[in-house]
Amino acid sequence: MADIIQLLPDHVANQIAAGEVVQRPSSVVKELLENAIDAGASSIKLVVKDGGKTLIQIVDNGSGMSTTDARLSFERHATSKISRAEDLFRIQTKGFRGEALASIAAIAHIEMHTRLEEEELGTEIKIEGSKVISQEFAAVAPGTSIAVKNLFYNIPARRNFLKSNQVELRHITDEFQRVALAHPSVEFIYYHNGSPLFNLSESETRKRIVQVFGRKTNEKLVPIEEETPQLRISGYICKPEFAKKSRGEQFFFVNGRFIKSAYLHHAMMSAFEGLIRPDHIPGYFIFLQVDPATIDINIHPTKTEIKFEDEHTLYAILRSAVKHSLGQFNVSAALDFDSDPNLQTPYHFRNKSPNNPEVSFDSSFNPFKVKGGQPGKVTGARNGNNGWQEIYVGLESGLGNAEQMSRMNFDEESMETGELFEESVGSMVTTLQLGRKYILCTIKSGLLVIDQHRAHQRVLYESLLKNLTLKETVSQQLLFPLVFSYNKSEIKMLHEMEESLGTLGFSFEQWEADQVEIKGIPPFMKEDEVGIVLDSLLADFLLKSKTEAVSQADMLAKSLCKTMAVRAGDTMDSTSQLALVNDLFGCKEIDSSPFNKPIFITITEKDIEHKFI
Ligand code: ADP
Ligand code: MG
Repeated sequence: MADIIQLLPDHVANQIAAGEVVQRPSSVVKELLENAIDAGASSIKLVVKDGGKTLIQIVDNGSGMSTTDARLSFERHATSKISRAEDLFRIQTKGFRGEALASIAAIAHIEMHTRLEEEELGTEIKIEGSKVISQEFAAVAPGTSIAVKNLFYNIPARRNFLKSNQVELRHITDEFQRVALAHPSVEFIYYHNGSPLFNLSESETRKRIVQVFGRKTNEKLVPIEEETPQLRISGYICKPEFAKKSRGEQFFFVNGRFIKSAYLHHAMMSAFEGLIRPDHIPGYFIFLQVDPATIDINIHPTKTEIKFEDEHTLYAILRSAVKHSLGQFNVSAALDFDSDPNLQTPYHFRNKSPNNPEVSFDSSFNPFKVKGGQPGKVTGARNGNNGWQEIYVGLESGLGNAEQMSRMNFDEESMETGELFEESVGSMVTTLQLGRKYILCTIKSGLLVIDQHRAHQRVLYESLLKNLTLKETVSQQLLFPLVFSYNKSEIKMLHEMEESLGTLGFSFEQWEADQVEIKGIPPFMKEDEVGIVLDSLLADFLLKSKTEAVSQADMLAKSLCKTMAVRAGDTMDSTSQLALVNDLFGCKEIDSSPFNKPIFITITEKDIEHKFI
């Protein structure tokens, strides 16, 4: 039999490659935007007609190309970005496969104008289905303009497969947003059918996010920052109360490249666990900087999936960085309650009478529900006093609603928790202890059953975390120092925690190899509790692996609140019950304990009525 294998002609090979690179108009937009970025453009204009089916044009003010390069750029495997195999391990550019232009040219009509800054004349090239129709000198601006017309004109099957203009436009906008978010210092202008969709001036990351997603976004963002020898994480996460059921604001960028990663998304979901409803998805804009040698971008033609050398560590670092940010954010939020003196003093409800026998809390706080227009109000209310808004750059948000944080006074539209209490405005809250385990509390629609142990854990946790962060040390000096014996490694652990424990009021003296003297303890702690508290702290410290612990402060606060919280079986008088309810509703996060257990349940009047049927 004769030989039957032959090499495919270039234009056929290009068409096949195009099948991988160009799925739809948005793929063209992505490739061309990335080329403009790689060319060092500081301003990029995107013009789209009919969802990209008729025209996609990108104009940049980047480096431009020489006449030879302009012609060569449409060849397969033609790239200026790598020249040797080793270059694959230090990729800093978006492109490097040299296939995009060749692929696009195989399936569309192309018109390119390009000029190097230093040349007087530029080049105009027209290509149809891989065939160069004309090439001429032309008087054009420095930079490059590529117009891609009639996409898939020669592959009817693909063209018919395209969705409506609206859907294709949506895909294009997604790609546009990803590139725009990753490159805030570049100006972007985007037109569809003659109307401007985006006009993004040169900016920085936070402002760019706001430019892209709207002014309301600013108040949702919490910064995240983490640096290890291997990587740098920066960016923003959206506060838990803004999590949505739908996807749309989840972004990972690795070295400036948007990527999809189910694994890293899982890390985000797990960091938010307990803070958002299970069917909700948190928003995030995470920028990872890693050594290009530790990633493999090459595993997918569109390069949206990449492989990390050490994915597990990355997962752990990312998760803990997010938790850390959320923790800090909780603390900052608590600082806003200066109208509630209970939150300014270390907490010990057993010995304290409440200042006001009314329940007082942030009426606008809702960890879940966000209705149209409400978020501004919510944040505004919590921001009323010089608190955390300083963390955020000065973009306008709905400030000035401090008065909303009034006692028992809920906004009609505010959240479920708020609605629960609505009718009790001005009236005294009645509480009752049930089985020395639960606090019952009447609400508008029925009954609130609060787990006293978990509620107190939450209150203590937030208060401890606040102390640890503010470092406003108050200590109770002991007349007779306490002496505790520990083994060597326990002494070492205590040493490691000494500074944080000092912040809480512990003062250690006379460190010996196997014992330590304690002269001061936190004001809210009883002397006879100290031994138990420290023992359980040491046990927790030992258990927590380094990567798992969000931060030492978080670990300490969790451990201490667990040991010190009132337990099931403890009797609470009515003053203590009220104080607990009062303080719980002053917390940032009221419905789950620091260990993600529900704090209360509600029994509605309806539930009760049903029982009587
Ligand atoms: P890759 O980006 O993977 O190198 P492309 O096919 O996208 O492959 O582009 C081929 C080459 O054409 C690039 O390496 C670059 O040298 C040149 N090029 C493409 N677009 C531009 C542009 N907008 N400005 C300057 N040069 C460009
Ligand atoms: Mg490219």
